[in-house]
Amino acid sequence: MLKTVLSNTECAECRFCCSFRRQSLWETPLFDGESVNRLPALYPDAHFKPRGDVFTIDIDDCYMTDDPEEEALCPFNKNGCVLNGEDKPFDCSIWPLRVMRYKGRLAICLTPTCPVISSKPVAVMQKLADSETGDRIITYAKNHPWMIKEYKNGFPVLREFE
Ligand code: SF4
Ligand code: SF4
Repeated sequence: MLKTVLSNTECAECRFCCSFRRQSLWETPLFDGESVNRLPALYPDAHFKPRGDVFTIDIDDCYMTDDPEEEALCPFNKNGCVLNGEDKPFDCSIWPLRVMRYKGRLAICLTPTCPVISSKPVAVMQKLADSETGDRIITYAKNHPWMIKEYKNGFPVLREFE
């Protein structure tokens, strides 16, 4: 989460963005090979599977029912995310912002499902996307293109880039 606009207190009771319905598995965090080699020794219940050029958590076996609304929790959430610093997936550190491919261009988009951010004026996130934070996000995306997602309907586009 973006700590400039979200507090630990606000997120403590939520965990929404750390748990995934089957239809939301496209949103699971991405890890590079170095992390995948190192993290299981520290967190044995974390399993990974390939996604494109990188890896994501494998929580396919964590669902207990056939209910499509069932949520499976990320193995790195133990009453809050245990990953910090460089271990934290970039996608997680910028949530609820996302870099998406929108009409052939890169765009910073806003995930519409964070309840706290949804309760704030859109201008708060627009200001963030227009700031150096937005510049940093798009630079990272250009250097790590595997984190760019295809555009999803309903995600407000805050800023577009060439
Ligand atoms: S969805 Fe929003 S409020 Fe909930 S844990 Fe994630 S960042 Fe925090
Ligand atoms: S890595 Fe951390 S922040 Fe990201 S989904 Fe898992 S628990 Fe949440």
